[in-house]
Amino acid sequence: MKNHFDVIVVGAGPAGVSAAISCINNGLNVVLVDSKKKEKIGDKVCGEAISKETSHTASDLLKVQYPHGEEINTDVKELVLQTAIDEDHIALPAIGYMVDRHKYGQRLLQDALKRGVKLLDQTKVIKSITKEIKSITKEKKVAGVVIKPLNKEEEELYSKLVIDCSGVRGIVRTTIDESLEPFLYNKLTKSDYASCYREIIELEQEHDLDGKIVLKYEKDIPAPGYIWFFADGGKKLNCGTGFIKEGINKDKSVKAVYFNAMAKYYHPETYAVLDGRGGNVPIRPPLWNAVAPGLLVAGDAAFHADPLTAEGHGPALLAGYYAGQIAKEVIDRNEYSTQALWGYNRHIFSSFGSDNARSRILTITLEKLGADNLEFLLKRKVIKQTDLTSEGILKKNSVFNLLNRAIRCLPKIGLLILIKRTIDVSKAVAKLCDEYPETPDKFGEWVAKIESLYEKLT
Ligand SMILES: Cc1cc2nc3c(=O)[nH]c(=O)nc-3n(C[C@H](O)[C@H](O)[C@H](O)COP(=O)(O)OP(=O)(O)OC[C@H]3O[C@@H](n4cnc5c(N)ncnc54)[C@H](O)[C@@H]3O)c2cc1C
Repeated sequence: MKNHFDVIVVGAGPAGVSAAISCINNGLNVVLVDSKKKEKIGDKVCGEAISKETSHTASDLLKVQYPHGEEINTDVKELVLQTAIDEDHIALPAIGYMVDRHKYGQRLLQDALKRGVKLLDQTKVIKSITKEIKSITKEKKVAGVVIKPLNKEEEELYSKLVIDCSGVRGIVRTTIDESLEPFLYNKLTKSDYASCYREIIELEQEHDLDGKIVLKYEKDIPAPGYIWFFADGGKKLNCGTGFIKEGINKDKSVKAVYFNAMAKYYHPETYAVLDGRGGNVPIRPPLWNAVAPGLLVAGDAAFHADPLTAEGHGPALLAGYYAGQIAKEVIDRNEYSTQALWGYNRHIFSSFGSDNARSRILTITLEKLGADNLEFLLKRKVIKQTDLTSEGILKKNSVFNLLNRAIRCLPKIGLLILIKRTIDVSKAVAKLCDEYPETPDKFGEWVAKIESLYEKLT
């Protein structure tokens, strides 16, 4: 087998397939490696709600068709944030689709294969390979990966560039040579992701959630956890929950927490379970730096999912596209240093990175508040629907407005202080993301500033 390529893409989820299409559209020769059997690629535990705008933008960039036909289960119109009290809720416009991830993923894979991407399925990537590229300077780079095809011996694959799209596990990122790139976070700890359990159910009766994706914050789910109910067409719902399995929640069973929360809404005898599985979703802000010599990291492997809603499909597609664009640039110049690849980080932060970094702030605040206080704030209308729209709280910070909220917040005035701090930190994070360093030499200073903002909330 040929074992030298321009690009090795690890993982054939949305990030990997997108990266492979982006590379091949740029005339590069690319191999896509996935541990799954070809027919199973795209089948992933998911809420399956995707933003129309993001998926269309990514499709245009990649020159592939929008989700269509049987790939779409139903349309999404509204995101509802709610506590146990139904009446006190916030509903936000959210235009999107509920998709069949497996069918959509298979079609994107076919698009990639038709364009000439080579697929190695049922092939597990074991670790990255680092090699010296200049014997005098001892300069090193990621030079390939060790693979283990099903029922075969381990082999080595080499490339000019590796793109790690292996999902939360981040097999290349977490196995790179420690000394290769100190700016790349190369760990995976329990606090980096939430463990989830998700079911697709079919009810006996029609539900009244058509067009809605509902996040319900519940006291019995470790904060900032919620149970979600996504209307999936007809009598179907996509439901699930998740939380970080750390500290006092270390030994809690996600399944048990889910069944307990679910029983409050639907008696188990009133629905059939069509699919029930566990999965992990990233909960960190996006990697502040997602490059190392010879390596780009995209999708869940770079924590590109929205920490609040778990929306990661669209960001993964976009990140994959940008990775392919940068691959073309660096391969043309035959330069693979962090400096050469740096533009990738700038693409991420001028695209979805800033929004996701701010979403993480919201999850920290929700964790601090807990479901009880959130219920209080919604009931007293200290936080209102309009606060989260474009005319929201950020624009109406007048003294009167604050006083009015303070009165409604009594006696829990500390909550208002927390909200004010959240807004201030969120604005400061957005500003820093806009000022993402142009070159790596300013990165150390920048990252210290942004991390100190998060510390203000913890
Ligand atoms: C419970 C849950 C609900 C979610 N809900 C939503 C939602 O409603 N909307 C949304 O947009 N997003 C949602 N997400 C997030 C979304 O699924 C991910 O963000 C998205 O799939 C990330 O794409 P990816 O390509 O980075 O990773 P993945 O889709 O995880 O793909 C990674 C691929 O890499 C392969 N792989 C992994 N390790 C190796 C290895 N060592 N060797 C070879 N191959 C390997 C895997 O087989 C897989 O095919 C949800 C996630 C979970 C867990």
